Amino acid sequence: MSAKFPDYSNIRTDYLDSGLLPGKDIRVAVLRLDLLHPQLSGNKWFKLKYNLLAAQEENKDAILSFGGAYSNHIAATAHACKMLGLKSIGIIRGEEPPKWGHTLLQAKSDEMELHFLPREQYDKKESQSFIASLRERFGNIFIIPEGGNNALGIKGAAEILSCGPSDLSSFTHICCAVGTGATVAGLASAANDNQSVMGFPVLKNEPCRPSPFPIITGYHFGGYAKSSPALFRFMNKFYEDFNIPLDFVYTGKMVYGVMDLISKNYFPAGSNLLVIHSGGLQGNLSLPRDILFF
Ligand SMILES: *Cc1c(COP(=O)(O)O)cnc(C)c1O
Repeated sequence: MSAKFPDYSNIRTDYLDSGLLPGKDIRVAVLRLDLLHPQLSGNKWFKLKYNLLAAQEENKDAILSFGGAYSNHIAATAHACKMLGLKSIGIIRGEEPPKWGHTLLQAKSDEMELHFLPREQYDKKESQSFIASLRERFGNIFIIPEGGNNALGIKGAAEILSCGPSDLSSFTHICCAVGTGATVAGLASAANDNQSVMGFPVLKNEPCRPSPFPIITGYHFGGYAKSSPALFRFMNKFYEDFNIPLDFVYTGKMVYGVMDLISKNYFPAGSNLLVIHSGGLQGNLSLPRDILFF
């Protein structure tokens, strides 16, 4: 493994004070992937890892990937590439905004070359002809799909359960926010037979693909990157109670869902829940300053 890869020494499991949980006889721990690295926080590094190794092995000149103007994946890809000395190219969904947000500015300062693509074209980004045009334009590139959602991404995400110092095998349930689904697929492949992996989609119209693990719908708060005062109140209270910051696009919604399910006695007594803090806190920088206390 490259010496420049981040080490996992900051990752830990925080048990939540059970006196402050909405149900009895349930234990909840948070796997703090958000502490991995200030710019590579959370699940995104895991999904990038084997993609970047493959690009290095194949002697590619640059990494090219896709995402929206607030994409945690774009921010992480730019930073990881800079760290490893790889050139990076970001294809961003939609017209260039008049004022760049934090994610784009950060990616730019990490030397990512950014190209904006109108939505209709962006939606066809996986077509063979578009991929061919990218290769023609940018040369010897390694393409990582949006969100790092490919087999190498899933392989990396499987390592989430063995990255920290603690043995996670005794948790009965593993709860994770779902965007593309690569992270939860990796978790499901690494979990043992006694563990139930639960995915909480943050997109509204998550297609109901047959899934080997339960998909818990109903906690998307109106859809991707939508929010509500109730969500922000919950996130502030969670921070006050447990001193753990959540992001409003993914982990805030998932943890809200977990707490709601606990209060509705969804989990049998004696359950031992592991909640994956998949990071993404940089996304909160797009909110007005006075909304979150942290
Ligand atoms: C991207 C992201 C997810 C979703 O991961 P997928 O593998 O796309 O399902 C979850 N949490 C956070 C914080 C993210 O940034």
